[in-house]
Amino acid sequence: MSTEFDLVVIGAGSGGVRAARMAAGHGARVAIIEERFFGGTCVNVGCVPKKLFSYGSHFPQEFALAEDFGYRVKGWDFHWPTLRDNKSREIQRLNGIYQRILDTAGVTIFEGHGQVLGEGRVAVGERVLETRHILVATGGQPFVPDFPGREHVRISDDLFYLEALPERVAVVGGGYIATEFAGILQGLGCEVTQIYRRDLFLRGFDGDIRQFVADQMQEQGVTLKFNTDVKRVDLEAGRRQLTYQDGSTEVFDEVFYATGRVPNLNGLFAQGAAPALSDGGAIKVDDNYQSSVPGLYALGDVIDRIQLTPVALAEGMWLAAHLYGKDKPAGPMDYRNIATAVFSHPNIGTVGLTQEEALQKTDAIRVYKSSFRPMRYTLGDKQERSLIKLIVDDASDKVLGLHMAGEDAAEITQGFAVAIKMGASKADFDATVGIHPTAAEELVTMRQGELITG
Ligand code: FAD
Ligand code: NDP
Repeated sequence: MSTEFDLVVIGAGSGGVRAARMAAGHGARVAIIEERFFGGTCVNVGCVPKKLFSYGSHFPQEFALAEDFGYRVKGWDFHWPTLRDNKSREIQRLNGIYQRILDTAGVTIFEGHGQVLGEGRVAVGERVLETRHILVATGGQPFVPDFPGREHVRISDDLFYLEALPERVAVVGGGYIATEFAGILQGLGCEVTQIYRRDLFLRGFDGDIRQFVADQMQEQGVTLKFNTDVKRVDLEAGRRQLTYQDGSTEVFDEVFYATGRVPNLNGLFAQGAAPALSDGGAIKVDDNYQSSVPGLYALGDVIDRIQLTPVALAEGMWLAAHLYGKDKPAGPMDYRNIATAVFSHPNIGTVGLTQEEALQKTDAIRVYKSSFRPMRYTLGDKQERSLIKLIVDDASDKVLGLHMAGEDAAEITQGFAVAIKMGASKADFDATVGIHPTAAEELVTMRQGELITG
């Protein structure tokens, strides 16, 4: 059948834009449909504005630190609307760039809601596009559990457009977003309580790192309420009263829920056109991102893998090469040793296996650990520390995991991720001469490992 397009992509976020652009580069006739914002979650209500706010939230501690270096920083003030609006201006610029990138690549852009009608047919407004392949890259959306008063809480999107910064804030959840938001809001001057349902947040990260970050956040003044669940939220004179499961109550100006994200399938499939979904509502795909419907592909946050922008980008590039490239990928995308960071205060950088995971996969590991006070803080009384940790397979000497919490953890981990991906051994780390004085050199100078057997 002759079609107008080879590929119609629904969703111009991280994965969709990359797949569309690369497919067009391989010579495919591509269209993309976007209903809300070019660049998707990451650019508009995710990574980018979050990182800008994170930068902003560090200034008070920088001002305090500057005094230790002889500067007299007097009478500084913080004006939230300036940060918010400067951020929005930058995001608007990025929206334009994303649109231009697509235009330049020769991708046809449709603004509106995309709906899959059936094999090779997608509706946008009044138009029906005929295509060989369809790619669903519609991302995810915040999940808020059901409880009385759910309508009184905010989600992560809201932080980026707040009229005014609240004085007392509760952040519910113990994952990436909740922990990052707690740090940002505390840094910007709010009084923050983070509420998490189990005994220690950041489940899935290395145990020592989780405890270390919890201790450091408390040191900075964040109240951590673990083993706590919210039963209901009531509006009381414009403020939010939380009632916990044990019946106790507490009042906040705002409550942010960051309790995970679910695939965005809103109005996406006409009756009978939906592919098979997982229990969590994600589109099920095989190693080639092919769903159960012929010619219908999906990637990024709408599938059940890793919800990170660089992963969506890599999946998009992989799929474009697989469908239209002259050189097809040799095998499926490799999800091992993907580095990730939490931009909490302090930052976490991590790649490879945690101590807990390593012990499930191998009999004996060596753990190298070092906690130190960054040199920048040594002239004053700031007590913030850094923790680094290497997990090494005792039998092969291979470094299985690298974890860091502290200043520049994300930047440092990105560099070391290459070594870990290449299969570096502890002997390779030891043979690397450090750069002095840096925090990163600690990672190549640790000699005393603790042998731990499973
Ligand atoms: P998205 O980027 O969500 O794009 C989906 C697009 O599809 C959207 O533009 C949406 O409007 C559009 N769409 C949906 N349905 C339709 C439809 N029917 N028709 C037309 N258009 C539609 N990841 C990191 O790697 N680092 C970070 O620091 C980071 N920080 C984050 C902070 C926050 C607060 C959040 C929420 C996420 C963060 N993430 C981060 C995760 C990252 O944003 C996502 O993993 C990434 O954006 C997923 O890309 P995607 O292409 O799958 O979907
Ligand atoms: P996460 O999956 O990281 O965390 C969700 C949190 O909500 C967990 O602590 C979970 O608890 C808790 N939770 C889930 N359901 C409930 C419930 N019913 N009641 C109470 N608590 C609940 O999701 P986020 O929303 O923080 O972020 C979504 C994804 O976006 C992340 O997984 C990450 O992939 C990506 N992201 C990446 C960032 C980065 O790269 N820096 C930054 C922000 C987001 P439990 O542990 O018990 O399951």
